[in-house]
Amino acid sequence: MEYIFGPVLSRRLGLSLGVDLLPHKTCNLDCVYCEIGRTASLTCKRGILAPEEKVLREIASCSGYEFDHLTFAGSGEPTLSASLGRCIRRAHELTEKPVAVITNSTLLTDPLVREEVAAADLVLPSLDAATEPTFQKINCPSPTIRIADVIDGLCRFREEFDGEMWLEVMLVKDYNQEEAPLIAKAAEEIGPDRIQLNTVVRPPSEPVLPLSREEMLEMLDIFPGAEVIPDWDWQVPELMKAELLELLYTRPRQVDEIGELLGLKIDDLMKYLNILEGEGLLGRRMQKGSLYFVAPRGDNRGFSNEL
Ligand code: SF4
Repeated sequence: MEYIFGPVLSRRLGLSLGVDLLPHKTCNLDCVYCEIGRTASLTCKRGILAPEEKVLREIASCSGYEFDHLTFAGSGEPTLSASLGRCIRRAHELTEKPVAVITNSTLLTDPLVREEVAAADLVLPSLDAATEPTFQKINCPSPTIRIADVIDGLCRFREEFDGEMWLEVMLVKDYNQEEAPLIAKAAEEIGPDRIQLNTVVRPPSEPVLPLSREEMLEMLDIFPGAEVIPDWDWQVPELMKAELLELLYTRPRQVDEIGELLGLKIDDLMKYLNILEGEGLLGRRMQKGSLYFVAPRGDNRGFSNEL
């Protein structure tokens, strides 16, 4: 199938059957933490980017699949697809499962986009900044987008949308953690049903670092009532820790290779790597645009942030 992916186990949506209406990495942001790489096409222009009837046929063909949500997400920002509203509405006819949209929130400034997205049962917008300098630094937006407008669009959407709204805040070390109180204030104004705090757990497009467990838990004081997105058990099983370090002692390795060698899913592996990195047992470096993890033996740990 070309436009459907999964079902995949999502930390927020359970078993999620994904619908991707975009060519690879089409977005109006170029977030430093993006797990699908640098934005290939930085644009705010909406268009028909996938053949609607084919997408709908693919959704219909998944009627026998088990999943918890049908989720519009994928290779970029789904609201850039001018087919989104029609596809959501038709998807309701094709499945009884709740329809979700994951969005970076930027086009919710547009009443038409708000109306289209409001056809979903569950909307998961994101907000990583409250001031323009931080927005520029972490989300690297298309030139016409302003964070004040984005927050205003989110407030309007909340007023107009009856369904569930779960606001995600991605916290990145040295990028937006200082701004957390202002983001929390904006989130309070928006009034989502849930606030979900996240940090970098998958290979990012830029060499950025996650917040530690302690820092994430401290954030719960700044965002009252928020939740840290589940899936963190904050511990690496001893045997797994030994196997991981042994592998990385021999040479730097990329995430895919480590996952394959240890038979681990990327999500679990990234969680373990982040924890061991936080403990100072390994580090990461960029080589020719690719991310590698390294673990020098003994005292020879000159890897910290060698990116
Ligand atoms: S909005 Fe999403 S897809 Fe776009 S750059 Fe940011 S993380 Fe990547």
